Amino acid sequence: MEIYLDANATTPVLPQAQAAALAAMASDFGNPSSIHSTGLKAKATIDSVRASARRVLGAPTGRLIFLSGATEGIQTAVLSALTALKQRRKQDPGTAPSLLLYGATEHKAVPEALRHWNALLGLDLTVLAIPVGPDGRHDLAWLREHAPRAGLVCTMAANNETGVISDLDGIAATLAGSPALWMVDSVQALGKLPLALLERGIDYAPFSGHKLYAPKGIGLLYVREGAPFMPLMAGGGQEGAARSGTENMAGIAAMGAVLAALEEGRCFRPSATLHGYRARLAAALEEAFPGLQFNAPAAHTLPTTLNFSVPGCSARLLLDLFDAAGVRVSGGSACGASKALPSFVLQAMGLPAWRTASAVRLSFGPAADEAFIDEACARIRACGQALRESCQGLAAGSAETADGVVRWLADGGCCHVVADRRSGRCVVIDPQPEIVERLVSWLRCQRLNVAAVLRTGAPRDDGIEAAAAILRSAFSVIATDGPIRLGERRLAPLRMKGDAIGFVLDNGLGPRLAFVRDAAGVPKDGLAALEPEDLVVCTHDPHNRLARRVGDEHGDAGEVGDEWAIDAPALHRLLDNEPSARLIDVREAYEQCLGAGLALGGQAVPLSCVLDALPGWLALPANTPLVFFCRSGNRSGQVARALRRLGHARSFSLAGGLALWPHAAQEVATLDERMPAWE
Ligand code: PLP
Repeated sequence: MEIYLDANATTPVLPQAQAAALAAMASDFGNPSSIHSTGLKAKATIDSVRASARRVLGAPTGRLIFLSGATEGIQTAVLSALTALKQRRKQDPGTAPSLLLYGATEHKAVPEALRHWNALLGLDLTVLAIPVGPDGRHDLAWLREHAPRAGLVCTMAANNETGVISDLDGIAATLAGSPALWMVDSVQALGKLPLALLERGIDYAPFSGHKLYAPKGIGLLYVREGAPFMPLMAGGGQEGAARSGTENMAGIAAMGAVLAALEEGRCFRPSATLHGYRARLAAALEEAFPGLQFNAPAAHTLPTTLNFSVPGCSARLLLDLFDAAGVRVSGGSACGASKALPSFVLQAMGLPAWRTASAVRLSFGPAADEAFIDEACARIRACGQALRESCQGLAAGSAETADGVVRWLADGGCCHVVADRRSGRCVVIDPQPEIVERLVSWLRCQRLNVAAVLRTGAPRDDGIEAAAAILRSAFSVIATDGPIRLGERRLAPLRMKGDAIGFVLDNGLGPRLAFVRDAAGVPKDGLAALEPEDLVVCTHDPHNRLARRVGDEHGDAGEVGDEWAIDAPALHRLLDNEPSARLIDVREAYEQCLGAGLALGGQAVPLSCVLDALPGWLALPANTPLVFFCRSGNRSGQVARALRRLGHARSFSLAGGLALWPHAAQEVATLDERMPAWE
């Protein structure tokens, strides 16, 4: 069962909302503008849903317009306010407001809409972010100072990333007497907070149905009676000419079912129950991830949202881990999740860089029940256990000692640990400051003694030096210049141009690995001591090439074409037709142990240990198909492309990874039966 904990991104559609939408498509499919009975029925549905929304939102008067969602609602509100401001400036240029203000943690739709319409209408007003404090709430003193010159103030009701609830009454009091219009993005508050739109004097409030169990593509905009209004869509005059275009009746009917459920109060849990659920999830997280820090104060956040960071664990690692356990969470906001950018919301709150870069958001909907929370807590604890067992948590674990090269990825570059299980010794090359704490704990957990801490490139006083000092002191490492023996392995310095240095790892079999700082800095003659089949591994590896041949300094992502990505039917064909094909799971050990039911079988070589396996794969007959897979196809794509660049043309990655694998659980047996036995 999937445990979906990303409700702030979107929610599933409530069964009664699905039923209402289906009825609106199948039997009650009328156009509300038609004057025959079928049309009148549709019109009655709209009227009744609008009336319900008025009661739920505390909006007995003013406009309540059905539209496609909050983004459209925000555009309409901003266009309305800015058109009025333009008018006012024309009539009275001397006293017209000069500022447009928005909360620094507002959803991007708001500042982007402000800038867009400000430019399009030729207003050229100054757009300013209202600062927030460390608790994520607006700086009311700042707002008080700027409000007299503001034409529009935008302050969300609750934040989508942190769940921080704005002090709407405080803002209302601050804005009293200001000429500013006031928009409150209420998307995340619907069904979770009493809004009392009219009472609070809010001018515009946009909503999105899909954040509260209605489908995507339906939303609402409240406009206070007397607030300026300008339609965004002109046409057939629907919605009292406020929003033209035939109404989305399935969406409106579904939204009506959700509003009815809210009014009945049976489907959604009361606030105290939701607070209890959140406390249980928070306790499970703290137990699973020692040192975890919550990024927003619980007292002022929605009871359905938790935002946290774990020292030494990137958001990516945590997302992979949770996903393997069937738990869907998100790193920052959904829109930002595909880009690995630090959270601007947490930055605005002044949180330290490691927390803004590694934040994870866990959010559930108010229809969650006890059994769901029980299962979520159990899975979170299992995630912590999996991390501990692979020595990746900041707590003692029980993993088998590593043997070979382990690659640690950090923002600044890669760190490599060369470990020898038999002697229990290792060498660390280029420790990166962001991961040093986790590295120390991993080395201890692995029961490895650190024989040396080395750095590639030219010596310089930087983060690597500081991280190396931490490691040397933690493991009482004595500096060494000469070759280092690690059991059968020998690591020797490689002198290059100037005072730059690299290291060559020779394990007596096959190609050697040369560790250097970056490819561009390696003069060809500097690596003269290497053979053509040796592999060069760079600390700076922005295109995830993993390894390259001596003298090959180039190559970005595009050069291997796109035939490396294959879908599930192509994989089936390959396995049916070519018995020599190999399937390789490159997920990390902590994911593999959690996602047992989803594995397709095959060999397990986590991405962090792939460097050791490369020579073996390259030594296979050239026509051996190698198919890599992971959770999403990203990491397996890196390996397939790296191998192609190194000359093994028949390297593939399962497109979309296990996430898109059809009926993953049922497929396991069938594929396993067809797989050759692995040595
Ligand atoms: N405002 C907030 C606070 C949100 O969370 C979102 C969606 O993530 C939006 C606006 C935009 O909503 P939609 O994409 O449904 O238009």
